[in-house]
Amino acid sequence: MSKPSDLLTMKPSRFIDFLKANSINRFYFIYDEENSKLVASHQVLQSIADTITNNSPDFTKHEGMFFQLSDEYDVLMSAFVHKTNRGQAAGGLRFWQYQNMDDFFADGMRLAQGMTRKNALANLWWGGGKGIMIHNQDLDKNNPEYRKSIYRNYGRFISSLNGCYVTAEDVGTCEADMANIFSQTRFTTCIPSSFGGSGNPSAATALGVVCGMEAAIEFLNLGTLKNKTVAIQGMGNVAEPMMSYLFERGVKQIIAADINPELVKKVQNKYSNQNLHARLVDIGDNSILFEDCDILAPCATGAIINQQTIPKIQAKIICGAANNQLLSSESDSLLLKEQGITYVPDFLVNRMGIVNCADEQAGYVQNDSFFERHLQKDYEFSIYQTTLRVFKQSALNNATPAAIAIQLSDELAEQTNPIYGYRGIEIIRSLKESHWHNESP
Ligand code: NAD
Repeated sequence: MSKPSDLLTMKPSRFIDFLKANSINRFYFIYDEENSKLVASHQVLQSIADTITNNSPDFTKHEGMFFQLSDEYDVLMSAFVHKTNRGQAAGGLRFWQYQNMDDFFADGMRLAQGMTRKNALANLWWGGGKGIMIHNQDLDKNNPEYRKSIYRNYGRFISSLNGCYVTAEDVGTCEADMANIFSQTRFTTCIPSSFGGSGNPSAATALGVVCGMEAAIEFLNLGTLKNKTVAIQGMGNVAEPMMSYLFERGVKQIIAADINPELVKKVQNKYSNQNLHARLVDIGDNSILFEDCDILAPCATGAIINQQTIPKIQAKIICGAANNQLLSSESDSLLLKEQGITYVPDFLVNRMGIVNCADEQAGYVQNDSFFERHLQKDYEFSIYQTTLRVFKQSALNNATPAAIAIQLSDELAEQTNPIYGYRGIEIIRSLKESHWHNESP
C-alpha cells in the first residue's frame, strides 16, 4: 500500500475550491489496460488515480470516471462507468453529501459495480454505472430553482459523455429532476410518463421483492406467504405497495416502522382493516429489525445488517428493497449463514426499477412480456428462478447466497453485447482522444 493522496481526505467543498484554484472544470480517471492503472486527465490529480488503483478495495478496473463542476452553485457532478461489455453503463443518479472525497469516490465505484451486477443478473443488455452529484451544503436542496439549474446542468454533462453512461432516478433525485435532465440529454431513463417514459417503478420493485420472498420460502420448504409475519423497515414508495401484495397473499401480520409521521398515518389509514402494526420511530431506532417475524424486509436505508444487528435478528428470511443492506458483504453474509438466517441479496430482488427503465426506448405494450417475465416463475432469469438458483448453488457449495449471487452476476457481466459490445470502452477512448476534459462545457 502506498501513502493515500492528501486530496482524498479533503471535504468536498475544499476539493471544489482546489479544483477552481487549479482552473479545473472537468477531469477524468480512465483505466489504462496496458499499464493496469487509472490515468488522470490532470497531473495534479494523478495521486488520486494512483491511490484508487493501488489501495481502494472498491476499484475493480472501472473503465472510466468523469467529473465536472456545475456552472453555478458549486456542485460536483460525476459519472462512474464500471463495465460496458453488456452495453452502456446504466444506473441512477444520487444527490448526496459526503464527509470527504475518499468516501465519495468509494461510494461511486461501489455503486457502479453494484449496477453491473444487478443489470447482468437481470440479463439486461446493459453495463453498470452510477451518477453522483455532491450536494452543496450551503444551499437549500429543496429550492426548485437550484434543483432545476443543477439537474439541467447534469443533463448537459451526460450529453457530453456521448452515451457511455445512461442515467436514471436514484436516492435524492425525483421525477421532476428527471424531467430536467431529460430536457438536456437523451442519455437518460426513468423519464416521466408525461414525456413517454416508464414513470415510477416502485410498485414493480415491491412485487419483485415479494417474488424473492416466495422463492426463499419455497427453498426453505416453509409453504407460502400465507400466515407469515413480515416486518418492514420503511413505509415509502416501495414498502407501501409491498404491503398490498403481501396482504393479497394472505400474510398474517405486517409490522412496519418509519421515521416520517405523515407516511405512518397514511399507511395506517390505507390498511386500517388489515392486521398492520405501523409505528413511528426515531432515526437510529432499528428495533423493527429485531421483531419476532418470519421475514424481515429492509426497505429504508443500507448497511443496517451488520455484526451488531445480526445477533438480534429473529427472522428466518431477510428480503427487502434497500440497496446495500449488508455493511460488509463478506463477513455479514457469513454471520447470517452461521445464524441460520436466509439472506436474499438485495441486488437480486430489487431489480424492477432498472428493468422498468430498460425497455423504455422500445415502446410499450399491455402486460409487456419483457417486463412481466422478471416477475414470473418460469423465465430462467426471473427473480424467482434466479433466487432459487442462487440458494441451491449456495447449499451445494457451502457458500453464502451473497457470494454465489456475486459469482453468477460477475460471470454474466463478462458476456458481450451481441451488437454493441465494447462500445462503451470505445466511447471512453474517443473522449480521451478528443480531450474532453479541456472542452468548455
Ligand atoms: P423512499 O424514500 O420512498 O422510502 C424509504 C422510507 O424509509 C422513507 O419513508 C423514510 O422515511 C424511511 N426511513 C429512512 N430511514 C429510516 C429508518 N432508520 N427507520 C425507518 N424508516 C426509515 O424510498 P423507496 O423508493 O421506497 O426505496 C426504499 C429502498 O429501496 C431504498 O434504499 C432504495 O434505494 C431502494 N430501491 C428502491 C427502488 C425503487 O424502485 N423505488 C428500486 C431499487 C432499490
